Amino acid sequence: MSYPYTLPNLPYSFDALEPYIDERTMHFHHDKHQQGYVNKLNDALAKWPEGQSRDLVSILCDPDSIPEHIRAAVINNGGGAWIHTMFWNVMSPNGGQKPAGKLFDAIIKSFGSFESFTEQFAAQAGSFFGSGWTWLVVDQEGKLKIISTSGHNLPQAKGLQPILVIDVWEHAYYLKFQNRRAEYIQNWWHVVNWPFVMKLYNQII
Ligand code: MN
Repeated sequence: MSYPYTLPNLPYSFDALEPYIDERTMHFHHDKHQQGYVNKLNDALAKWPEGQSRDLVSILCDPDSIPEHIRAAVINNGGGAWIHTMFWNVMSPNGGQKPAGKLFDAIIKSFGSFESFTEQFAAQAGSFFGSGWTWLVVDQEGKLKIISTSGHNLPQAKGLQPILVIDVWEHAYYLKFQNRRAEYIQNWWHVVNWPFVMKLYNQII
């Protein structure tokens, strides 16, 4: 990814995650919301040539380096552009099931059981107040943690490496589930792309 940023294609068709995540939501979410973040990120970076050649994540991890008059625009829209691409990739029409290998072992060590992990993750995603994201991250000591961030803030800005994320902004589920966020989360487990999450984990440790 580099400036000018473009909207990446979904790694599957818009209806591929049915019936768990509906086609209409995927169209609005990708074609309108993520496209809007990409456009506004480019608009902001047009006013900051130095930022155009820098790595987006490293910019977002060093907000003080962003000129003040575009700082909020770069953080909000750059984060939105980046996180949504990760979100598409942690889902798959062949998703669900459970992780295996080193990641499975680490989940058992950190959370006791896979079921306990999914309960704790769903509880945090379900209770997060306002617009944000719930993540499974690897901390500086290599341990797994569940965290949430507001807006479009990245865990990397706190020194944490993300391997799994769910969008809990209302636009991610309102068309199909309205206010029933817990139901959205329960459906989402059916499309989690564990092989992709395992690949990210194995690259980090
Ligand atoms: Mn979203």
